[in-house]
Amino acid sequence: MSTRTCAVPGCSKLCGPRVYSPYCPAHRKALRCHGHPEQRPVTFYELAPHMTAVRGVVKRNPDSEAWAIVGTRWGHLLEQAEPIAAAPASGLPFHKPTWQAADMLLKVAAVADAAKVREVMLALYLLRMRDPHRFRDDKAFTFTLVRRLRHLAPMAKGRYWSHKAQRSSCVYREAPPRAVAVLGAWLGEVFGLAGFLVAEALCTREVKAAGERARLAEAVGAFA
Ligand SMILES: [Zn+2]
Repeated sequence: MSTRTCAVPGCSKLCGPRVYSPYCPAHRKALRCHGHPEQRPVTFYELAPHMTAVRGVVKRNPDSEAWAIVGTRWGHLLEQAEPIAAAPASGLPFHKPTWQAADMLLKVAAVADAAKVREVMLALYLLRMRDPHRFRDDKAFTFTLVRRLRHLAPMAKGRYWSHKAQRSSCVYREAPPRAVAVLGAWLGEVFGLAGFLVAEALCTREVKAAGERARLAEAVGAFA
């Protein structure tokens, strides 16, 4: 048992003794945190340009019904989460991952601005459309939605000083993977369709702009 190597191609680390997972500790951690052993987290800096693009489309179309529809869906989700989050206190039987998902969601919603949540969620759908290989699979994408949502609220356990990076960083409480899957599915229901359509509209616009630039360059290049 202890001589097995990690199932991730190219990883020669050992799985470790008395472990049933086919992955080494690092890839096990990635699976737990990011939904796939080979999924890398999406940082705020990586997401920033996509958030700027989403902010731009909102600014250009402030009265679009799209935002009202997404806002209503988000509101419904929060309403539905309230009784679920309150279930343990009422003494009724409850499904633990669902309760944890509702609890996580309401804690973020209590401190995060709804427009900011929408911006981050739509930006992730835009990132996926612009760079489909950035996410290993749907589960990894869903986990990323939840991770970026959670980072909108101060849920850190504490801060530590990284000598190497010369800055202090937050230590985030790890969310239970089953609860992350539940919350991710909810986020997909609220933002999935809008995320896809907004990303598609933005990408079409970019292709058109690139085509125009190419034609302009060609025309200028043909100047006598
Ligand atoms: Zn590995």
